[in-house]
Formats: sequence, structure tokens, C-alpha cells
Amino acid sequence: DLGLEIDYASELNANQLLAATTIEGKVLVIAGAGSGKTKTLTYRTSYLIENGVSPKEILLLTFTRKAANEIKGRAKTLLASSLTGDGENQKDSQALNAITSGTFHSFCILLLRQYSGLLGINPRFTILDTGDSEDAIDLINKEKKYATNITSQAFPRKKTLQKIFSTSRNRRIHIRELIESGYPDIATHISAIEQLAIDFHEYKRANHLYDFDDIIGQVVRHLKTNDKFRQLLQTHYRYVMVDEYQDTNIPQKELIDLICTPESVSLMVVGDDNQSIYAFRGANYENILLFGETYPDAKLIKLEQNYRSTPAVLNYINALSDEITLGYQKQLYSGSQVEGVKPVFCRLSNETKEAKYIADKIIALKSEYDYQDFAVLCRTSFQSNYIQLEFMDRHIPFIVIGGIKFIERRHIKDVLAFVKILYNPNDTISWHRILTLFKGVGSVTATRLTQAITADNNSFEPLLTARFAKKSDQLMPLYKMLSQANQADSVEKIITLILEFYIPVLKINEDNWRERSEDFRVLTNLANEHDSLDSFLENLALDPPNDSVATAGKFEQGEEETDKLTISTIHSAKGLEWPVVFVNALVDGITPHYRSLNDFAELEEERKLFYVACSRAKHRLFLTAPDYFSSYSGYFDKASRFIAELSIDKVKVETMKQPVIESDEPVWW
Ligand code: ATP
Ligand code: MG
Repeated sequence: DLGLEIDYASELNANQLLAATTIEGKVLVIAGAGSGKTKTLTYRTSYLIENGVSPKEILLLTFTRKAANEIKGRAKTLLASSLTGDGENQKDSQALNAITSGTFHSFCILLLRQYSGLLGINPRFTILDTGDSEDAIDLINKEKKYATNITSQAFPRKKTLQKIFSTSRNRRIHIRELIESGYPDIATHISAIEQLAIDFHEYKRANHLYDFDDIIGQVVRHLKTNDKFRQLLQTHYRYVMVDEYQDTNIPQKELIDLICTPESVSLMVVGDDNQSIYAFRGANYENILLFGETYPDAKLIKLEQNYRSTPAVLNYINALSDEITLGYQKQLYSGSQVEGVKPVFCRLSNETKEAKYIADKIIALKSEYDYQDFAVLCRTSFQSNYIQLEFMDRHIPFIVIGGIKFIERRHIKDVLAFVKILYNPNDTISWHRILTLFKGVGSVTATRLTQAITADNNSFEPLLTARFAKKSDQLMPLYKMLSQANQADSVEKIITLILEFYIPVLKINEDNWRERSEDFRVLTNLANEHDSLDSFLENLALDPPNDSVATAGKFEQGEEETDKLTISTIHSAKGLEWPVVFVNALVDGITPHYRSLNDFAELEEERKLFYVACSRAKHRLFLTAPDYFSSYSGYFDKASRFIAELSIDKVKVETMKQPVIESDEPVWW
């Protein structure tokens, strides 16, 4: 008896308990899907608090802010439910709010603002998302006229440039090398592109703009060069925990190591190398394999029991895991006595049939489950189009997660641009975006006006000068609105003022302004939840609301449905679980994608993606494969090799299609 109020030993198995209660030193927990890694982090959090660790000393890094909040929320409930006589734990549960938690990005933003004085930076920076960075690159390029260099090769577009700059930083490869090996078609422009990268960097610095890579890069740089800063963090964050460690990239690993090197800092990372699916963003699953080298005294704990899936489903997941070549060997066993049902595989003639099949299964199972117990997982949201249409026809309510983000919509970006210039009047990208909304104001005028505003100490006065005012009659109302908004006392008021100004502009510019304005409700609701502009902007940049517009829930009475099925990309489904899971488009050429077929590393990542998808299922897993894909105007005659390479008895085959050719081979494969 440890004299604790929460009975850890009955809630956790032996290895989970060991991980949750080893609170000093470095610990690596490596285990397959559904083995309770995240649950262990939750219990460890409450254990730390019970053992006198101050919440302020805890740093919890996860892949989404939602995941961090869930861990915190559950730990809170645990503490609150184990009331001691003096109510000590109840107090503890409230104190949990003081834990620093979130994504690497949100943590780094926090540091840059909080320690701006020590680091000598302006805390009022704004964040460029990928689209903003592309626009900035484009603006600079136009001004410097790099694209007009005369060569036989076309100058790359802004998207390609942004990708090159980002990859170069996350993988630590020189731009020159990256272009020579990966982009030979633009090799004659290497020097110009290198210069453009420098200009882009300067531009961001001059205007207090940070892109996603800068945020982490800056913190790492300061940690390396500023001893005081590093030591401050090392004494502040004495207990560091990281979930989904397999998806960290080089700068993120460096960040962790810079804080956690001293023996006095406790570090626990949990992950599953089989689930690393972010190599395209520079994630390096080898980080998990390197942990023992970085910390020779680290304790390695493996979890081997799976609590998520029935034996029949787990048997399949284990078979998939065996096919993954590199990494730790993991075989999970199930504690469950009930065998459950085998995964079902079904070939169908086309995507419409596939969608109908999925909807039929859902209706058939509806007596056993709620809608929220189902998920359809797709490689890209684009692959759910037919399914979405079918669900709307059949009145199956759903939400879509992943895919085109709310925040990437043009009209949302417009509104946020107003917010951003109020927050950081130096944000030239946002100025540019706003000014060019007005008929009569082109890119050149916008640039001049932006320069005038910057030169005039960021005041809005230049909007009124005759030289600019004559270009558009919108500049005077804009001036008034901005001045009023500057005085506003709440984020909600600011958004209201902006919308009053912006909606008439939208009406002129867009036919479908009514549909677009629907999205503003989401924005207003969000504004309600924040009491400062920076928390509002940060929340949107780092944790945007889900795209829930394509919902078939506004039924007859126009009532909002709460019980909804989830359609998600596999990437966004990481760490989550559902009783019934569908994975679609499982033909060779799409899963795995034909572009990955000749590249070992890419094929391996595709395999892991499939593993992540299947391992979300608790009771039932359905795998579907249409023959014909309209978007490719083509037939895919082979089932995914990820399914076909396992022995046939791993799945139950349900075929709706009649065999076409007489053959000894099973026709459905
Ligand atoms: P993933 O790799 O997918 O992120 P994970 O290893 O983080 O999975 P969890 O999500 O923590 O796994 O746990 C999976 C499920 O198993 C959850 O529903 C969790 O509550 C349950 N679970 C984990 N450990 C135990 C346990 N010791 N007893 C009962 N249920 C458990
Ligand atoms: Mg997890």
C-alpha cells in the first residue's frame, strides 16, 4: 500500500504502473497501438501531482492541443474523484490548469512571448501559415524580379518555393543540395532561389512575422546560444512528457534534448515507431530508436497488452505490424475473452457502390451503436466525396475532420487579416491582403501604402491622404473601422466591427457571399471564448475549428444533431479510437499510392499509415476496395498489397461483385 488515494495498481498493468510511477530520470515507453501509452501519461500526471510535484514544473507535449487537454482533463477528474478527508486532492485537481501543455508550436510561441525581453525580440509578432508564407514569397519575388531571369527553365511557383525553404530547414539540407537532388528542372535558378530565401528571412524579421518553422527554429537557436534562457527552462520544467514521440522532427528532438539534458530534468517520451506517418514534414522515427544513445541511462519500458481491440481485430493488426520492416518488434496480446468478429474485406465495382456498401453496413449496425461510434478513415478528404454524398442522401449525420481547413478559406483569411494588423501593424502581408480587396487598389498601390503606413510609425493616417484616398472610396471607412476597433474592449466587439465593414465588400466580390458568411458564426463563437487578440489568433493558427460545414445534420426541423459519425483523414485520426471503423480505397495504386511503389521509405510510410487506420478499431473493421475510380478514369484490378500479402484467412471476404474471369486465383484479390 503506497498510501495513495487513487488505486494505480488496479487501474494499470504492471508495466504501465512502472512507467507512471518512475518519476525521475529518462524513460522511453515504446509500445504498439492501443496499449495504453496515452492512458499511462494521464495517470503519471496525476501521480506526479499526488507526489508533491508542482503543476508549474510539468511540461506536456502532444500532437494536438485537443489531445493535451484531454490528458489534463482526465488527470483532473482522477484527482477530483479521489477526495481525501482534507480535500487536498480537490485543490490539486484545480491546480492542474497550471501545467504547461500543448503542441511544440504552441509551447514555442508561449516561450517567445513570455521571454521576449530576455531574448530581445518583439512579443507582438504574427504567425504566417503556409498560405501566408507563399504570398510573402510571391510579393518579394515580384519586387526583386527574380522570376524574370532569362533561362530556358521556368521559375518555380510560390508553393514549390515555400516547400523547398521549409524542407531545407526541417531536414537540415542546403537549398542548393535539395534542388540539385530533388528539383533538377529549376537548377539554373539556384542562386536566385538562395537569394530569395535570404530576402524572405529578412522580410519576416523586419515585419515581426514568424512562419511555423521559425517558431521552433528560433527557440532552438536561443536555447543553444543563450545560457540564461536554457538554464531558466531547465529549472522551470523539471518534468517533461511527450506523446507520439515517433512523429518529432530534428528541430523538435533538439528542443527536447536542450531542455532535458541535465540529470535533474525528468523526461518520459511515449511512442510507437510503427505509427510514424509525418516524414513528409521531416518527422524522423529514428528519434525513437536514438533515445537510448542520447540518454544511455534511460529506462526502456514496453507495453504488451492491447486494451482497445477484440482478439479478432488485434490478430489482424499484429499481422500488419509484422510486415513493417524497421523498428522494434512488437506483438500485442489481448486480455479479452470474447473473440469478436474478423475484419471484413469487400471489393466493389466503383466508388458509388462502395459508398452504398458503407452506408448499408452503418444502417444495419445502428441498432447496436450510435452514429458517434462509427468512423470512416480516408487517405485524403477528397477520397470521401462519394461517401459524403451518400450519407447526405441517407440522412446519416457526420462531421469531416482534416482536409481543407476552415482557416484556409479565403473569406476567413480576409477577416483574420484585419485582426492581424490590429495586433501587429507591421504585418505587411495582411495589409496587402486587405488593401487589394478594394477595386482600384492594385498590388503596387498596396505596397506603397503599406510602406507609407510603416514609415508613419504604423499609424493608419496614410489611408486618408489624398494620394491614396482617391484610389478607392473604401479607405476612409476602413480607417474609421480600424480606429474604432482599436478602442474596442473585447475580441467579440472587434470581430463584429470587422464583419460590419467586410460583409458589404464580400458581397461585391463574391456571388456566394451568403454561404461564406455562414462561417462567420464559427468565428464569432470562437471570439467569445477569448479575452485577448493574441490568444484568439494563436488558437486559430494552431488549433483551427474542424471543418464541419459538410454536415447532413440540419434535418427537417433544422435541428442541430449531436450524435454524428466521423469522416476523417488517417492523419487526423491518430491516437483516437472508435467501435466501428471503415477504411476505403484499398487498391494497389491508391493505397499504397503508385508514386510510392518504387521507393522503399515511402512505401514503408504508406504501410504505417494503413496500420494506424486499422488500429483505431475496437470491435469491427471494414476494408473496402472499388475497381473503378472516376477521378483517375481508371480501373485498379489489384487489391492493396497490404491486404493481399497477408494470408487470406486473416479477413472475412465479402464480395458484392460477380467474378469476371474464370481463374484459379481468388477473384476478389
Ligand atoms: P495509440 O498508439 O493509438 O495512441 P495508446 O497506446 O495511446 O494508443 P490508449 O489510447 O492510451 O492507447 O489506450 C487504448 C484504450 O485502452 C483506451 O480506451 C484505454 O482506456 C484502454 N486501456 C489502456 N490501458 C488500460 C488498462 N490497464 N485497463 C483497462 N483499459 C485500458
Ligand atoms: Mg495514444
